[in-house]
Amino acid sequence: MSWRALALAHTPLLSRAGLERAAWLRADPVALRDGWSSALVLRMDDTNRVPIDNGALHLQAALSIADAPPAEAVLIAVLDTGGARHIWAVRESSPSGSLADLRSTGALLDARDAGLCTTAQAVLNWHRHARFCPRCGGTTEPVQAGWARRCVSCGREDYPRTDPAAICLVHDGADHVLLGRQPAWPAGRYSLLAGFVEAGESAEACVVREVREEIGVTVDDVHYLGSQPWPFPRSLMLGFHARADRRAPVVPDRDEIEDARWFHRDDVRLALATDDDWTTTRPGLPFTAPGSISIARGILQSWVQHE
Ligand SMILES: [Zn+2]
Repeated sequence: MSWRALALAHTPLLSRAGLERAAWLRADPVALRDGWSSALVLRMDDTNRVPIDNGALHLQAALSIADAPPAEAVLIAVLDTGGARHIWAVRESSPSGSLADLRSTGALLDARDAGLCTTAQAVLNWHRHARFCPRCGGTTEPVQAGWARRCVSCGREDYPRTDPAAICLVHDGADHVLLGRQPAWPAGRYSLLAGFVEAGESAEACVVREVREEIGVTVDDVHYLGSQPWPFPRSLMLGFHARADRRAPVVPDRDEIEDARWFHRDDVRLALATDDDWTTTRPGLPFTAPGSISIARGILQSWVQHE
């Protein structure tokens, strides 16, 4: 099969759920207050950990937390579980129960829970850094069920931000991929090259620029694969593949990328044979593959299966 037809073999783990976000409810305080009596709340601590119970998110009855939606709570979804049920997210410094974060549990949670956790983390992260108005410096307060903040001085409204980043599988059109490693990563880990899309730049142009800047290689035939929200703290990863000449010199910039090399398909397959939680190093493998919930791993898996 031609490499041009490469597609994601699976939907990225954090992209599986298309949650009903019920945007029409955000400006309806009466409906929100009425819904609170049957609502459930996802509590997230300051390090983005959430209570997990038997491999699922532990959602708490809203009325056990407050009589009405707290000002800082965010309506993240409406679930149809025997009637429409509002799901809210709140920060709580030390929620009771067994806590885990999205990196360690994202691959274990079902589609709905992974989507709830991803959305909660993305929007709660934004609130933390949006307390002052970018126009006049005044303080802001949450409105629209947590989906905007309004300046109390000038009335300007701001909305949750997401930073687009392009991540690219660079291959030779045959059996090799070019992977790099960042200096801060655990020893032996290699992954796809990635970078933030700059102002005024297309994602495709970003791919070409980032690969050239980071390892001195020029790619062409840039093709889009799919996307995944990545709330660490607020990215949207846009996955691509692109082709490079394997004879071209690879010159890591030593700053963002300390090493980059070509790996054969068989080595990639070996590296992907074990699960990964991001923190572990696996000696004896050709390299340590990117973490289970990353779109990087999903793209690599799709590529090794695509022959
Ligand atoms: Zn203002």
